[in-house]
Amino acid sequence: MIGEKIDQLKQELPQGVNLVAVSKYHPIEAILEAYRAGHRIFGESRVQELLPKRESLPKDIEWHFIGHLQRNKVKYIVPFVSLIHSIDNESLLVEVEKQAAAKAEQKVACLIQIHIATEETKYGFSEDECIPLFEKIAEGLFPHVEVRGLMGMATFTDNKSRVEAEFARLHRLFMLIKERYKTLLPKFDTLSMGMSDDYPIALNHGSTLVRVGGKIFGDRIY
Ligand SMILES: *Cc1c(COP(=O)(O)O)cnc(C)c1O
Repeated sequence: MIGEKIDQLKQELPQGVNLVAVSKYHPIEAILEAYRAGHRIFGESRVQELLPKRESLPKDIEWHFIGHLQRNKVKYIVPFVSLIHSIDNESLLVEVEKQAAAKAEQKVACLIQIHIATEETKYGFSEDECIPLFEKIAEGLFPHVEVRGLMGMATFTDNKSRVEAEFARLHRLFMLIKERYKTLLPKFDTLSMGMSDDYPIALNHGSTLVRVGGKIFGDRIY
């Protein structure tokens, strides 16, 4: 079942777009089912859930961290995480740099999270706030971090045109930063947007990485 859902989803993705199977709140067995179907990229949003799952699952899984990350937990994931999608404040990036310098064998890949939704509850930089941060990144203040792109979550709403507008804005910002820093950040190539309910819209607006949970694994049990 899970394997078939992943295959179906992958067929919908344009070339060059990757899928993060969001496995938070789903058991090890569900992840293994996806793994046996050949999938390798999984997303988790809580460090205390990610660590034991990683312990008991195959070592060639690429773990993406997609949730709000507390600074005091950075040290636990930096040694192995493939991509942190959710850098939502500067002090978090400072901590990732510090831990990466101490503990990681290679640069730690990160995305800067941009607040595109109208909901107050979502995290991330405003479009204006992220520009001074990119100036610091471009100046080389974070040598052990590889900033690969942007991540955003649209407003949770049935209003399709609002979601479209939010993804379109994030895509414009992504293209602007990519162009402005093309020599200093040559690996800036990832736009993480789109979840179970809105990934088709995100794909229409240039997403290169969709994060899908429910549509693969079913409802989460909290
Ligand atoms: C849970 C989560 C997802 C997946 O959501 P679904 O609606 O289950 O596809 C994607 N991105 C983030 C940041 C999440 O926390």
